Amino acid sequence: MSATDSLTGASDAAAPALQGPAGAGPSLVAAGLTVAIDGARLLDGVDFEARPGELHALLGPNGAGKSTLLGALAGDVTPTAGTVTLDGRPLAAWKLRELARVRAVLLQQHEVFFPFTVREVVEMGRAPWRGTDAEDDDERMIAEAMALTDVTALASRAVPSLSGGERARAALARVLAQGASTLMLDEPTAALDLKHQEDVMRLARERAASGDTVIVVLHDLNVAAAYADRVTLLQRGRVVASGKPRAVLTAERIGTVYGQDVEVLEHPRTGTPLILPLR
Ligand code: ADP
Ligand code: MG
Repeated sequence: MSATDSLTGASDAAAPALQGPAGAGPSLVAAGLTVAIDGARLLDGVDFEARPGELHALLGPNGAGKSTLLGALAGDVTPTAGTVTLDGRPLAAWKLRELARVRAVLLQQHEVFFPFTVREVVEMGRAPWRGTDAEDDDERMIAEAMALTDVTALASRAVPSLSGGERARAALARVLAQGASTLMLDEPTAALDLKHQEDVMRLARERAASGDTVIVVLHDLNVAAAYADRVTLLQRGRVVASGKPRAVLTAERIGTVYGQDVEVLEHPRTGTPLILPLR
């Protein structure tokens, strides 16, 4: 069990959504992270922290380094310099199988599961628990993950026969079935219709509210503003700003980073920032 698992049960069910467990320290910390490939710096001295109980959005224009950062935080990309620690231990000190039990990753490019059915793909999420007592939970976890992502009715369909959005939801179901307390999702809503987009974001927020650490790469600044506790804005491999959405997502900063003038309004009912391109 990880430190974040033990927090899950301790969190107060009556607490407002989005409020993390009191006093929870960061579970995932990156310091001075640099990733260079052929002289190009994909990440350049990135400091980053994600906390249990928080939904943390990674934002930035195409090519800013969001997927590279997520890969480095997941341990899938080896940094040229800098460190990542998870629950106080450097990633390099984790065995791969241990890591797979505490953090689950949805890649931006979903793997091609050519010969498999949806059900079989979701079952793959349970692989890290093979041979452990947690195998008893396999059926329940698989069924829950498929229900949460609305793919139960697609269970026996071959993955190549699915639409892009259905495939994305099946890939997310596999990640949820893994039962990890740190979730890293790279553009999980990119292919989804409005309802499924909101379903996925609600789900991510509920997981955070119950004490998990949730990191989500997003393109839609309005979705980030509405759902994230904290956002980190990247540009050319560097952190431009990190903090509460309202503080980070100013019209001036968005205009500079994205090269597109915007106006930021306040939602009349919720007070959430609404970001609109100037047209
Ligand atoms: P984002 O997810 O923010 O769109 P990425 O992290 O995928 O950005 O990529 C950051 C930059 O690094 C991009 O310019 C991309 O083309 C480049 N890049 C990514 N992977 C490689 C690689 N293996 N070799 C060279 N450049 C890469
Ligand atoms: Mg990306």
